[in-house]
Amino acid sequence: MSESQPTSIPNAKRKRTTMRLEPPSTASGATRSTRIWLEDGNVIIQAQTTQFRVHRGILSRHSRVFKDMFAIPQPELGEPVIEGCPIFRLFDAAQDWENLLTLLYDGSIKSEGWMNDISLGLMVSMLRLGKKYEFKHFRQIALQRLRAELPQTLETWDKRYLGKPPLRDEETEFDLLNIALEVGVQTVLPIAFYWCLQDRTMKQIIRGIPRKDGTLSQLTQETKNTLVLGKERLSAGTVKHAVGWLKSDKCVPCAQCTSRDACKAARFRILEMFWPMLNVSIALDPVGLGLTMRKFCAPCATAAREVFQDGRKKIWKELPSYFGLPRWEDLKDFDRK
Ligand SMILES: [Zn+2]
Repeated sequence: MSESQPTSIPNAKRKRTTMRLEPPSTASGATRSTRIWLEDGNVIIQAQTTQFRVHRGILSRHSRVFKDMFAIPQPELGEPVIEGCPIFRLFDAAQDWENLLTLLYDGSIKSEGWMNDISLGLMVSMLRLGKKYEFKHFRQIALQRLRAELPQTLETWDKRYLGKPPLRDEETEFDLLNIALEVGVQTVLPIAFYWCLQDRTMKQIIRGIPRKDGTLSQLTQETKNTLVLGKERLSAGTVKHAVGWLKSDKCVPCAQCTSRDACKAARFRILEMFWPMLNVSIALDPVGLGLTMRKFCAPCATAAREVFQDGRKKIWKELPSYFGLPRWEDLKDFDRK
């Protein structure tokens, strides 16, 4: 026990929140949010140069971190103030706070079906601030939304693939992957990585993809590296599990085959489709390769479909490993299982 290391619980608490008081000298130049400035608000939070006047009670009610911080005796919070409200400077994007506070004050949080209307931008803000400041309800809803977008089982993947995933209509593969990596939602990462390889070219992965608003959606160098290595492993897995059966007589023609020569010839024609370059997007495609089996006699088609489905299950099982992730059952969200 050393006397030279005093501890201060309030200070430790404040450190954990990463909040700092705004020095008066830099308060100038800040602008009031046109949307979130409540005249009877009793606290001002500032993100970048935007100030929001809100209520302590509301923030404390939804966020564990604010609740703890506001529990610190007032004199410790000190100055500066605007119209009697202390200012807290937060090191987050103003847009994230505008999104979250708009939801908090103007959103219909409990209305039926609203979750499906959450935009990508709002979901990102909910995940980011929800995790950092422990807005548990928002974090949980955003997690559900993200998990609904990026399936964690082959069954839900197949349903999603044939349906119409709302966020995939936009150019969102990189943004979804980035936010999952940023806040640590591991359960969606295998498919988030896979989607990039399925939908995007290597040129797009390296250079980024333009969003509708003209900005560029980009990946970090580390993520690009993971995708390059992942593509190599996915290709090997696809050759082995998805198309391997096309290379030998083990499956087609089958023992009950009714036209051996025709089925064998059809098998070679399908194999030729994957030569000289394999498209990894067939790895988990529930339809594409399955359609080609119409060229076989009925018993061979049945045998081939079984092998094909079995191969997809193997690829699914191995998918996390292609991207350097733990097994499906060991993936965690927000560091929790
Ligand atoms: Zn046959």
